[in-house]
Amino acid sequence: MTGLFHGTPLEQPLTCERCQQPHAKCGCPRDRLSGKVLDPRDQNLRIRREKRGGKVVTVIAGFAQRSDRTNDLPTILKQLKSTLGTGGSADETSIEVQGDHRDKMVEHFKKLGYPAKPADG
Ligand SMILES: [Zn+2]
Repeated sequence: MTGLFHGTPLEQPLTCERCQQPHAKCGCPRDRLSGKVLDPRDQNLRIRREKRGGKVVTVIAGFAQRSDRTNDLPTILKQLKSTLGTGGSADETSIEVQGDHRDKMVEHFKKLGYPAKPADG
């Protein structure tokens, strides 16, 4: 029997509204609280430099908190580390890479659709 839940709130879209993949295959980052797909345009990134024991790190802050299953920050970090050839770390809402890459990171995340701005430092 099909259409059992047709027209009721139980009916869910079968594919992700963003990547058009079935939900089981969708890897889009989703908001930790609402479960909605996160849009880069809604995440205002602030990219700043900080000194850590005489060394400069670049901090990219302002990511929305992803649900555990869809957290893509480790993947983003991995790509940045290999592109920049440097080390780094990620926590729930920010990424940190070693060295001064602020301006490069602003351009990088703008291209991905995030409103990214350099912050003081
Ligand atoms: Zn998706």
